[in-house]
Amino acid sequence: MPILADRMGQLGTEAAFQVLARATELEAQGRSIINLGIGQPDFKTPPHIVEAACQALRDGHHGYTVANGILPLREAVAADIHRRHGVEVSPRRVMVVPGGKVTMFFAILMFGQPGTEIVCPDPGFPIYASVIRFSGARVVPMPLREENGFSFRAEDVLALLTPRTRLLILNSPSNPTGGVVPKAELDKLAAGLQHFPDVAVLSDEIYGELSSGPAPASMFAYPELADRLIVLDGWSKTYAMTGWRLGYGVWPEKFIPDVERLAINSHSCVNAAAQYAGIAALQGPRTPVETMARTFAERRDWLIPALNRLPGIRCAVPGGAFYAFPNITASGLDSRTVQRRLLEEAGVATISGTSFGQYGEGYVRLSYASDLAALQEAVTRMGAWLGTL
Ligand code: PLP
Repeated sequence: MPILADRMGQLGTEAAFQVLARATELEAQGRSIINLGIGQPDFKTPPHIVEAACQALRDGHHGYTVANGILPLREAVAADIHRRHGVEVSPRRVMVVPGGKVTMFFAILMFGQPGTEIVCPDPGFPIYASVIRFSGARVVPMPLREENGFSFRAEDVLALLTPRTRLLILNSPSNPTGGVVPKAELDKLAAGLQHFPDVAVLSDEIYGELSSGPAPASMFAYPELADRLIVLDGWSKTYAMTGWRLGYGVWPEKFIPDVERLAINSHSCVNAAAQYAGIAALQGPRTPVETMARTFAERRDWLIPALNRLPGIRCAVPGGAFYAFPNITASGLDSRTVQRRLLEEAGVATISGTSFGQYGEGYVRLSYASDLAALQEAVTRMGAWLGTL
């Protein structure tokens, strides 16, 4: 009998994929399911991006590329960072990887080991805690509370840091809450981090262009942290490219050889055609991104008031991403029960808040990356179901 390594028992998963499997099963039985569980734009990748990939294949870009990504792509990333954040980043610091997740996997494995601690948002993207445990480090949850707009107070975060802390993970706009950390709080956090020079920071900014109103504050604003800041970003959400598996991290230059070795030991490089598509995305027209962000904002403006009219539901207005995170405590049911019963009884797939950590109890996550008609039907079904409780 083959015996798995102990660490395999530490690896978690993402509930969204399990809910998707159950929703698909119910649909195969003939049930009508509205899936607000999975977090991906319901838009198609803009045609000029698809064409750039096809052209790259026709041009014969079929081989391996350098492990860190082709230079024109890393230059395009650097130019895009300058356009968005006004900071100069050397393309040498850019590491192109197969999706946003890979930057977090690498960063956590690089800094986490038994005897160390990594601080991450709770509720937060479930893969953070999963990979932290896999690395052997201890998960230190950073509570994101509704009363703080699903953000944090810098002093509360700094109070979690100990001599064992190796990495602090931030995510704004946030999955699952849609919360955005105010610039003033990041200013205080960056100032406080001066007292913790050994703590690296992973700032997951994958939803950075999906907000309405002013752009969310970025950790790029703090050059004093540049020698220990990793910024995670990518194409999945902004350009509706989740299936292309294309992302990047901006790393302190001194860590690039380590990241490259991790890449060479795992995926070698990102597929070449996708890299050419990535250039077209960054250098092409901004209209598709703006249209998508505006559409998400319009849906949000319909959905949140509609949820707040349902009995037993209270929902804060998300500042970014495409998630609503309603408080369901007044229903008298716990989050997992609401997730299960909404799917089985009402045909609406949502994700229990506890899939994102202990502080997610009392909430469910709804993705509004679905068209308005689906959202309207979901709210009608939820209302009818809540009426039966
Ligand atoms: N970071 C956050 C906060 C996310 O929500 C996701 C995807 O849902 C990712 C990273 C991963 O993105 P990718 O699909 O590019 O790996």
